[in-house]
Amino acid sequence: MSVLVIAEHNHQTVNSATLSAITAAKQLGIVNVLVIGYHCEEVALSLAKVEGVEQVLVIDNHIYQHFLAETLADTIVPLTSHYTHILAAASSFGKNIMPRIAALLDVVQVSDVIAIESTDTFKRPIYAGNAIATLCTTDKIKVLTIRETAFEPAMMAKGNLAPIHTIQTTLTEKTNQLSRFIEQQLCDSERPELNNASVVVAGGRGMQTKENFQLLYALADQLGGAVGATRAAVDAGFAPNDQQIGQTGKIIAPRLYIGVGISGAIQHLAGIMDSKVIVAINKDENAPILEVADYSLVADWQEVLPDLLNRLKMGN
Ligand SMILES: Cc1cc2nc3c(=O)[nH]c(=O)nc-3n(C[C@H](O)[C@H](O)[C@H](O)COP(=O)(O)OP(=O)(O)OC[C@H]3O[C@@H](n4cnc5c(N)ncnc54)[C@H](O)[C@@H]3O)c2cc1C
Repeated sequence: MSVLVIAEHNHQTVNSATLSAITAAKQLGIVNVLVIGYHCEEVALSLAKVEGVEQVLVIDNHIYQHFLAETLADTIVPLTSHYTHILAAASSFGKNIMPRIAALLDVVQVSDVIAIESTDTFKRPIYAGNAIATLCTTDKIKVLTIRETAFEPAMMAKGNLAPIHTIQTTLTEKTNQLSRFIEQQLCDSERPELNNASVVVAGGRGMQTKENFQLLYALADQLGGAVGATRAAVDAGFAPNDQQIGQTGKIIAPRLYIGVGISGAIQHLAGIMDSKVIVAINKDENAPILEVADYSLVADWQEVLPDLLNRLKMGN
């Protein structure tokens, strides 16, 4: 079995979700990692040092600067004939390119894999995580996206330096007639990324306004955490879209999750159930989130949050 992992990166550093995909790949066979980007030598070098990586393939060209899915899929598909499995993280990046690759190869995609049973059988959550499906695919090439929180990130191995092979692209700027880059708006934040944060403070519609979310940012800063939100809070404009947690947002597994003014709809719970400790602050004692919370505070956040912040600031 030979596995190709598509690396996710920002041309300088590897996203940790790729390291989790490498851990999954190691359970399937020999692991090659493909780095496509522009001036991405550092990314290739760091991946060559990861335990279990046998070879790193690099395609470096300015046409990959903005990671357009159509361009990436057209580049990757001709390389797939050597492999039994193509893997990427089940992140926005993976969700953007992998269905295209699967469609071009005329195979099914197995999405959001949480366990590898064998080389053709995988487990994945369905019904917003309320059931786990075990499915087997007979496709010659298996295209999988891997849920980051289900696999530990692969580590750097002392002394490991896999060979790095550069491949020239045959594509040009004109090959992709379907999409073009217009602009990218990035949130510039000192806080840890939602996916990787060990503490997440999340707010829901119960926070009532965008301004009130500032309390959650202050709490997150006290705890060295990230801020997340429900879809209702995002739709109401309280928080940006990339902070949405849940079935159609991010799946997180922090050490500590604090949900404030969140009812606990299954679509939200689908994104937080791997959290080690769940704390809920809700004024409704019947809110569903209280059933899954390890610690619940049935209270109005307007009364308890300022007090909690003061205590944290004073260190008691
Ligand atoms: C296909 C689909 C996909 C979806 N995907 C997602 C997803 O990825 N993520 C997601 O989050 N949702 C998702 N949803 C939406 C989901 O069903 C819920 O509507 C949403 O999660 C509710 O958000 P909420 O808890 O903020 O709001 P509400 O359900 O309105 O809950 C607000 C809570 O705040 C409490 N509250 C109010 N005031 C206070 C106060 N002063 N102090 C303390 N507590 C207070 C209330 O008691 C209530 O429990 C999806 C829905 C569908 C249909």
